[in-house]
Amino acid sequence: MNTADTRANLRIIRQYWGDLMAALDADPQPVWPPQRLTTEMWARRDAEAAAERAERNSDALGDSPAPLNLDAAQAVEDITTAVLALADQVAAATQRPAIQPPHVHDGTPGGARFAADLRAAADLDRTDPRRWHYNASWANGVHWACVYIDGRVAGDDLDDGLFGPLSEHLLREVAVFADNSARQLLRVLGIGTRSTVIPDRPCPWCGAELRMHQPIDEPPTVTCSTGPSCTAPVGQDDRGRRVWAWHDLAQLAHALDAAERRHTTTEGNAA
Ligand SMILES: [Zn+2]
Repeated sequence: MNTADTRANLRIIRQYWGDLMAALDADPQPVWPPQRLTTEMWARRDAEAAAERAERNSDALGDSPAPLNLDAAQAVEDITTAVLALADQVAAATQRPAIQPPHVHDGTPGGARFAADLRAAADLDRTDPRRWHYNASWANGVHWACVYIDGRVAGDDLDDGLFGPLSEHLLREVAVFADNSARQLLRVLGIGTRSTVIPDRPCPWCGAELRMHQPIDEPPTVTCSTGPSCTAPVGQDDRGRRVWAWHDLAQLAHALDAAERRHTTTEGNAA
């Protein structure tokens, strides 16, 4: 069993979980703008709105609208349900039950001290932060569940007796969950090895096709298909294509929006 793949998939779920949550409230636009840029823009807008509210000294509560992106909502629900149930299952199979504190002692001062020591040891064992607590740990969410499961896949902490090894059967279940969930999450966020044409948004400088690249673990970039003769004020990649790196994407977003406004105005005038 290839635990490296499983651990990589668990890491992808943790890494992109914040982006997935942010995607809930964004229009489902799989290609442009990339989710991470939208997230930044929203964060900036929210900060401005918060500052404005603070200035007005208003205590208006923010509303929580229904998610706009139903694929993201489905992914959040599917992955959350599966990972919490799986962590429960993994804990039941590998985690030593907590030491039970003594209820009585023999009535002597020495016996009382001994019982107090045992109670303290039992408390310490029960509240060990490495433990998964059935149901109670659900509040800590998907991130902690993935960290916990990953620890068992990696065979962490086997030496002090808190955890036993994960069975082949459970390892397979974890592998299937991690593979399916990572795929679903990356699909919803439009992240992967293949580049995608940005529809209806030609290069504002030369009018050629733009492509979005969102490799795993790297920030998104956009390239223009024309080559070095495109006059866009950005550098070139190793194939001579104009490339907007992550820090150039806000500039590209402005240029694309301006081009679209010009286009809309022209259409409006023609009508
Ligand atoms: Zn171009």
